[in-house]
Amino acid sequence: MSSLDPATSPSLDARCAFHPEMTATAACQRCGTFACHDCLRWARDGRRYCGFCAVRALPPLASRADRFLANLVDSIVVFVPFTVGLVMMALTEDLPGRELFSLVFLLGGVLGSLLLCGVQLYLAAKNGQSLGKRWRHIRVVRMDGSHVSLVRILLLRNLLPSILNQLLCVSGLADALCIFREDRRCIHDYLADTQVIQVPEHERTGTPSYRG
Ligand SMILES: [Zn+2]
Ligand SMILES: [Zn+2]
Repeated sequence: MSSLDPATSPSLDARCAFHPEMTATAACQRCGTFACHDCLRWARDGRRYCGFCAVRALPPLASRADRFLANLVDSIVVFVPFTVGLVMMALTEDLPGRELFSLVFLLGGVLGSLLLCGVQLYLAAKNGQSLGKRWRHIRVVRMDGSHVSLVRILLLRNLLPSILNQLLCVSGLADALCIFREDRRCIHDYLADTQVIQVPEHERTGTPSYRG
């Protein structure tokens, strides 16, 4: 990495905005605040940010364990009401009036599963999360950290990878195994220009996380 960028390097007498006793090394490439060596952080995009901007511009990547657990929950959760309905139908098949029971449990199961699908779509559209991701405090965003649209999630992150899997006979396992790359991006992340990040602490608690 180059030492000082002329565009962001402060004059010799500039002071760190967080430690006035320290000479500034460079300006934050997001907010322009002068900061000392201790306060500046190299981010994944190759830029240097003050600590305040670093957590907002590029929060840490989601851990592989959190992504796995979130996917596990998401692949099961919408089927739970339907499965419970089927189990209840089986348990009540010897009771008098079983036709009514069967209808109620079947309809209840289907409606419950549809409702959970709706919740998943709502959360994905609202902030790039699913129930599983919300539980693990992780979120899908674009590579520049911006909001990812529901259409992009559905078409590029879900539909296109499954079509490619069918056409090219590539196992979904190959996609999933890309999580072990250093940037933790699967094939569906490349197709949709997305990454999965940890929800920043200040958003979870509603309080600033950076103390300068
Ligand atoms: Zn900044
Ligand atoms: Zn400082």
